[in-house]
Amino acid sequence: MRVGIVGLGLIGGSLGLALRRLGESIEVRGVSRRADAATAAQQRGAVHRASTDVRDLADCDVVVVATPINQIPSVFEGLARVVRAGTVVTDVASVKRPVLAWARGLPEPSQFLGGHPVAGKERSGLDESDATLFRGEPWIFTPGDGQELTPFDDWFRLVRAIGARPRILSAEEHDRQMAFLSHLAFTISTAYAQTVRPLADPDLGGPGYRGMVRLAEGDATLYEDITVANRGPLVEAIDRFTDVLRDYRERIDHAERVAELFREGAHAAR
Ligand code: NAP
Repeated sequence: MRVGIVGLGLIGGSLGLALRRLGESIEVRGVSRRADAATAAQQRGAVHRASTDVRDLADCDVVVVATPINQIPSVFEGLARVVRAGTVVTDVASVKRPVLAWARGLPEPSQFLGGHPVAGKERSGLDESDATLFRGEPWIFTPGDGQELTPFDDWFRLVRAIGARPRILSAEEHDRQMAFLSHLAFTISTAYAQTVRPLADPDLGGPGYRGMVRLAEGDATLYEDITVANRGPLVEAIDRFTDVLRDYRERIDHAERVAELFREGAHAAR
């Protein structure tokens, strides 16, 4: 089986490393934007071979698009010109509704299935790639209405083999869930860091402080891409959070049912 990966950063590189570690007869080919990035991915062992030419993926069975979200439309355009009939195309983007819309322009939209490995690190880039990144984590697939999933059986098998747990959701539900579970979290972490930094000395902060600001260290460009692509659901999540925080403020200010407040919070976190 031949798997092509477009975009050889944290996720594309980790996927290549994980697939190669399976030791099955899987050939991994990579395409990057820059020649030095293609060479680096090859040297790291993430791909058998890599180039900057999407035509090198023409005979792949599966092509995985692992570029930043805003690059996906142009990557799809390039792939549309080269992939043969029957090739499965998937992606790993953190927001799914726009990708599903762009995929309608592919020559065989029924051969495309949106995907999102819910795995990652604060830092992006090939240097951070890790064969074990997906182990134990959900990998959400977002079929269109009534889409037949049989063409993707081999890809599901590989996703399970690298340790991930495939799940199926609509693109709308995925984006709403991720707005709360992931996108709100990095937004709050960043806002928290900005609030605290000018007023307190981070050197005095312990594990609680470090845990809270961890996500604020993430890739600002990736965060921007995500917030633009998932604006509506994220704004809804921020509004909900703002309401809860306002209620906390009022109850703390009036020393009113404060223990109950934190008990409720602990219960919600379980
Ligand atoms: P990354 O480390 O920055 O990797 C993206 C790679 O794509 C870079 O090597 C970049 O090369 C390359 N690239 C950009 N445009 C390209 C193009 N037109 N053709 C070929 N390669 C191109 O980013 P990442 O964290 O792996 O994220 C990639 C995707 O995974 C995003 O869609 C993101 O939403 C999704 N995702 C990320 C995480 C996470 O935690 N980071 C988790 C789950 C899903 P250059 O260096 O030349 O720009």
